[in-house]
Amino acid sequence: MRIRSVDAVHLRTTLERPFSFSQFSYTDRETMLVKVATEDGRTGWGEAYGPAAITAATVREFLGPMIVGRDPGAVESLWASMYARSIDYGQKGVLIAAMSALDIACWDLKAQDAGVPLYRLLGSEPVESIECYWTGFYFGGEEPLESRWEREAEECIDQGFHAVKMKVGLGVERDAELVGMLRGFVGSGCNLAIDANHAYSPIEAIDLARRVEPHNIHWFEEPVSPLDAQAYLDVKAATNIPLAGGECEYTRFGFQKWFDARALDYAQPDVCACGGITESMKIATLASLAGIHVTPHVWGSAIGQAAALHFYAARPRQPFTLTPEAKLIECDRTENPFRTEIVETPIGLDGGCWHLPEAAGLGIGVVPERFEPYLVGRVS
Ligand code: CA
Repeated sequence: MRIRSVDAVHLRTTLERPFSFSQFSYTDRETMLVKVATEDGRTGWGEAYGPAAITAATVREFLGPMIVGRDPGAVESLWASMYARSIDYGQKGVLIAAMSALDIACWDLKAQDAGVPLYRLLGSEPVESIECYWTGFYFGGEEPLESRWEREAEECIDQGFHAVKMKVGLGVERDAELVGMLRGFVGSGCNLAIDANHAYSPIEAIDLARRVEPHNIHWFEEPVSPLDAQAYLDVKAATNIPLAGGECEYTRFGFQKWFDARALDYAQPDVCACGGITESMKIATLASLAGIHVTPHVWGSAIGQAAALHFYAARPRQPFTLTPEAKLIECDRTENPFRTEIVETPIGLDGGCWHLPEAAGLGIGVVPERFEPYLVGRVS
């Protein structure tokens, strides 16, 4: 089996309901998908996190030509040669995200070739579903957050979720008020995490953590700068709330310093950013050496969701005990048609759990004809 061609597809949609978080506002959603086609007519799909025009150009101009003619099943070799060629220019960021998309597409092909869902090829026994948490409770819009979040909390509980994540970053006073409010809406039995998207200095993050500790916070995500592991350690020393982070980190080389420093309690690699399936498996192995939980960051289309789910299903929980903490994976509930409209079989969501795809490969049935309304550009 050899790779005949590599395509990059840039999709964009304008949101009916724009939303904001501590760093900026979303008025549209976009993504970059790659199609890796083999000489014998099969196709694998992958997705990159981040600015789609840039990751598309990276695939078109740089990484794609590097893997045409090679065996897509040789994922380790392909990863190593792409990384070796990139290391002088892009050890982190969009270049690694573009590599991630190609790596995921090659794993899709490899699992199709083996005739099994990807997570089974990665070494897992059959898994029916994994519990997910509701990522929502964003800012923005004209309606007061109080009434909008109350409705969202009802919707979330009605759908059977037992875990939610809310945004913080509006200032410590306002955040603490909103955390207390949402805790009241979802009840004491619901798992509640907060996410600052690195809005705060350590002093502010510690202040917020101490104020919300009584609300039993499952984790405080990206409290401070993703560039500063010491700032995480400072916050960690001052609160009993576990810290989560890693969506802005890349490759095993990037994650190593966080694990060595024990700066995280939950590591959140994004499979579509950190280096694909190949690298996510290595990052999770490194995390296991430090006894750190891994729970993937998930922000993409059905392709990115499937990649994260297959990866996560294949990993054992840490640490090894008879009753390890249950897996919990991110479920983005903001508006995004790419989770459902471009595939034959979207990831099943039921009772606050994601169902593992049963078909071979990523197992979602990408339908390129449905890209049409969203197509920004297609290059090969
Ligand atoms: Ca986040």
